[in-house]
Amino acid sequence: MEVKNVVESLVWNNLDSVLAHKEGACRCERCRADIAAYALNRLKPRYVVTAEGEVYVKAEFLTPQFQLDVITALAEAVNQVSEHPNHGQPEE
Ligand SMILES: [Zn+2]
Repeated sequence: MEVKNVVESLVWNNLDSVLAHKEGACRCERCRADIAAYALNRLKPRYVVTAEGEVYVKAEFLTPQFQLDVITALAEAVNQVSEHPNHGQPEE
């Protein structure tokens, strides 16, 4: 059995479509990970227990309001990371 944060799945599922709307945003692996981390730090986690490692996102998490919260957090994250990208910095 595993414990998984369904919000993490939703963030990764929506990351690319939000990123596609931001002109000139970097899409490198580091920036995408930073965007996901930033958004996840702003969203309340919702954990579920899963037997097979697959995340079954329950209907209660798929309300329009919840999806909007995820998209909003992602849009903020894209703006933040675009302004202060961490890619290629020596201390990393
Ligand atoms: Zn980048």
